[in-house]
Parts: sequence; C-alpha cells; structure tokens
Amino acid sequence: MAQKGISPGLYPSCSVMRCDVAVIGAGPAGSMAAKHAARTGAETVLIEEHPSIGHPVQCAGLLGVQAVEASEIPLGSAALHPVCGAAVWSPGGRILRFNASRVRAWVVDRRLFDRALAVEAVRAGAILQVRSPVRRIRSQGDRMVLDITGGRSISARVVVTAEGVMARIARQAGIGPSHVVLSGAQADVPFQVEDAGRVEVHLGVSPGLFAWVIPTGPASARVGLCAEASACQHLRRFLSSPPISSRLLGSPLGLVFGGLPMGPPDRTWAHGAIAVGDAAGQVKPTSGGGIYPGLVSARIAGRVAAEAALAGDNSASRLSEYDRLWREEVGRELVVGMRLYRLMQGLSARETDQLLELLSRPKVVRAIEEHGDIDRPSRLVARMLPALGWSSLELVGLLRLALR
Ligand SMILES: Cc1cc2nc3c(=O)[nH]c(=O)nc-3n(C[C@H](O)[C@H](O)[C@H](O)COP(=O)(O)OP(=O)(O)OC[C@H]3O[C@@H](n4cnc5c(N)ncnc54)[C@H](O)[C@@H]3O)c2cc1C
Repeated sequence: MAQKGISPGLYPSCSVMRCDVAVIGAGPAGSMAAKHAARTGAETVLIEEHPSIGHPVQCAGLLGVQAVEASEIPLGSAALHPVCGAAVWSPGGRILRFNASRVRAWVVDRRLFDRALAVEAVRAGAILQVRSPVRRIRSQGDRMVLDITGGRSISARVVVTAEGVMARIARQAGIGPSHVVLSGAQADVPFQVEDAGRVEVHLGVSPGLFAWVIPTGPASARVGLCAEASACQHLRRFLSSPPISSRLLGSPLGLVFGGLPMGPPDRTWAHGAIAVGDAAGQVKPTSGGGIYPGLVSARIAGRVAAEAALAGDNSASRLSEYDRLWREEVGRELVVGMRLYRLMQGLSARETDQLLELLSRPKVVRAIEEHGDIDRPSRLVARMLPALGWSSLELVGLLRLALR
C-alpha cells in the first residue's frame, strides 16, 4: 500500500508497491494529473525516470497567460520576463510588428516551472519516485502493473501515461501515436535583442512550422525552429542567415532537441490506462506549444483516473469519459489548429508574403493586438476575418488551400 508523504527516494530492489493511480512522467502534464488524482482522494504515485525534475529541458519556455493560469501556481522565480508583442518576418523580409497593451505571455525557466508543479503534486499527497524508468505495462487481474528498470513494480488500478512524445508505455497499452511528429531544435545564444518584451516569428524558414527568437534577457535569446525533419540542419542555416547572424553576440551556450507531436490519436484511452500531454498529441499545431492543452487535459485525467480507480472500474468504457471531457475543453482548438497548420504548409513563399501583406492592414493589426491569444488562436481567427474584409474570391482561394 502506498503511504502518503515524502518518499525517501531509496526503493527496495524487489517489491511491488500498490496504489490507486500511477502516473508515468513528472513533466507538467504528469505532475498536474498526479496532483488532481491525489486531491480526488486516490493513493497516487508519480514516477519519473530521471533523478531530478525538469531535466533535460526541451522547450522554448513561452507560456500564454491562459497556460500560466492553467498551471494553478504563481510563476514566482520561474518567470523570466513578460511578453506583450511579436514581430512576424515573412520569407521576403517584410516585418510586421504587434504591440498589445497588456501582457500576453511569459518567458519562463522550464526547469523551475516543472519543479514547482511537482512540488504541488507532492503537497497534494502524491508519492514521487524519481530515477524510476518504467519499461513495461501489463494487465494482472483487475489491476495494471508497471515494471520499473531494476526489478521493482508498481501495481495500480489506473495508469496515466504522461511520458512525453516517445510514449512507449502508451503504445504498449494500446493508445495510438499522433498524426504528425515534427522535429524541433533550439540554441541558447548571446543575442542583440530588439525588444525583450517581443518575440520574433520567422515564416518560411523550413518546411514545418516557423522559426522563433524568444528573448531571455536584454542580450540573450532562445533561437529555434520546428521542421518536418532535420531540424538541426535547418537551425544551423537559420543561425547563419543575415537576420540572425548579424545579431549573434557569440557561440551557442546550449542546444535543445525534441519532437513535437501534433494531431491526437482517435482515442486516448485503453483498458486501465489513459494518455495525457505530449503522449496524447495534445499540442497546438499553430505553435507547437503543448503546455496549455496538456495542463488542461491533465486536470481532467487526474480526476477521471482517481474516480475510476476508487470505484474499482478501470474498464476502457469508463476511462473513455476522459477523452470526451478533454476534447470538449481543448479538442476544437487542436482540430482548427491542424487545419491552420495545413493551410500554412500549402502556402508558397510568395503567398506567405501576400498573407502578411493582408495582415498588415491597420484594422487587422488592431484586432490581433486586442484579441491575440496564443493558447486559443481560433478565437483570434474568428475576430480577424471581419477586419480582413476579404472579397469572396480571396476567401474561396484560402479555403481551396486549406482543403487541398
Ligand atoms: C524545441 C521545443 C520548444 C518548445 N517550446 C514550447 C513553448 O515555448 N511553449 C510550450 O507550451 N510548449 C513548447 N514545447 C512543447 C512542450 O515542451 C511539451 O509540449 C511539454 O513539455 C509536454 O509536457 P508533458 O508533461 O506532456 O511531457 P514532458 O515535458 O516531455 O515530460 C515527460 C516526462 O516523462 C518522463 N518519462 C518519459 N518516459 C518515462 C518512463 N518510461 N518512465 C518514467 N518517466 C518517463 C520524462 O523524463 C519527462 O520528465 C516545445 C517543444 C520543443 C521540442
């Protein structure tokens, strides 16, 4: 039986620990799910393969204000600085600058952010086991057993897999992969920052999403991109392109690589298990940001897993409730995001330049500055369309691109 409180961190080599809910992975989604499972009254174990939380960092650390709210914690020392605007660069070199009158996002230290979320899970009563890689999931009677490297096992009624993009245990449990996985690469560099409160978005740098410059201070930035493949090579080229190389103040101080899953599988549940966060493809296809949809879904995952475990029912049909509930909250945003992603994919460099031209109309700029929302971009699109005042011909052209 799991005991509430702080685990000593030293585990007997050959034992089976029993609990109601086991959460695999102490990233943002796992810690949030564990916190809510414990708060619902379930004996909860949070299992992390690394010896400490928040390492290695695979993130640009840009959080929209809704993501900060969804984290249910004050950012405290994890907050580096606020962001109020963006500069969007078109392939042809046009720059469109937006300046909102209030804070829209924060640049954060992901290591401190992840640790703060794990502290909350532990405070809620979850037992954290670090240095515990789960290598296998199996069903045993009415319980799920997780085998940890080294010989230990954890037996739970319900397993929440929050393992991130690789999601090996989710696949073993029968939960399918995301539709697309992009490759991300980023360098921490000394950099001549134009305005620390404004992030840069560079369009058309590589096939995939976009490239970014996220200031981390007055003379440093995270410069990165997402590509369909070979992100590292694209990043090398981007760093030596004139808009970036002319502002580099020295060689990279650190590199980050990682996958970005997009387009969740058709079902994020199986017998005895549910997947959350990157493991469930809960990432915004318009930006590659996974923290907001992951946190929102994890709150639901923790509660549903705990209720099912306490009711002694870990059947697939009981756990499918989680799928319905998370899609109600953020599913539409991911579907619309995927359409926008495909639309942007279909645009040539010339068409991207033209799109930016359209967006530079003063009415549109005002709409973006007023309603810009990186966590819910579909709302912004709905607000922008009237401001665009597009002719029906332009709209038909856009739809054609979106559907092809
Ligand atoms: C280059 C890059 C930049 C990004 N920038 C942003 C950004 O600015 N804003 C944003 O919102 N998102 C960003 N993202 C996406 C964001 O990092 C992820 O969506 C987010 O970290 C997902 O959280 P998670 O908890 O689902 O998974 P993760 O943060 O990946 O956590 C998974 C945890 O599970 C553990 N684990 C894995 N397997 C096992 C196992 N078998 N046993 C035990 N433990 C295991 C891992 O060690 C890890 O701690 C970026 C991603 C990349 C690659």
